[in-house]
Amino acid sequence: MQFIPFEEGIEVKGHSVKSVVDGFNTFAVLGSAYLLDEGIGTPAPNGLANLDLEGWYPQRSWLLCFQQIGKQLGDGLLMQVGMAIPRNAVFPEGIEDIHEAIRSIDVAYHMNHRKNGRPMFDPESGRMQEGIGHYGYEPVPGKRKIICLCENPYPCAFDHGLLTAMAQRYQSNARVTHDEAGPCRKQRGDRCTYVVSW
Ligand SMILES: [Zn+2]
Repeated sequence: MQFIPFEEGIEVKGHSVKSVVDGFNTFAVLGSAYLLDEGIGTPAPNGLANLDLEGWYPQRSWLLCFQQIGKQLGDGLLMQVGMAIPRNAVFPEGIEDIHEAIRSIDVAYHMNHRKNGRPMFDPESGRMQEGIGHYGYEPVPGKRKIICLCENPYPCAFDHGLLTAMAQRYQSNARVTHDEAGPCRKQRGDRCTYVVSW
């Protein structure tokens, strides 16, 4: 189900958190207000939330911020915040095509979260810690299509935006659709499935 952490004590990197400000675009002050309301960042004189990009913030608070945005402004804004993730969050280096892009999301997702004070993916050992769910990558043989199963506490619309921006960065004609036959986190399901095609 969306908005509820899988485990307590998980933190999110400042670079990722900034996507809320970025996703609100010209309404960055409004996006900042949602962060500040949950105790994320400190208020700057211009109304924006001052964030430590290399710092870490509680995932629970960030999810509450998404819940409020979704409730008050709707899925469109959550999708825009998701679309801001690829240009803000830390991603592995050397991504060159849409397959690597979608496959890297799960690694990037763990690089941008911390558990017990340690990033949940260590690029040196390649080790991943469990506790925040996953972003799937399942290419369809012979087709320009990837199935992406998202089983994590983030909202459906946010992941739709994240996948869309990531796919379109490497394949400008890419489309992402939600598999309506399967469960959806917005309807209390435990996962959503998206189809990336181009
Ligand atoms: Zn969904």
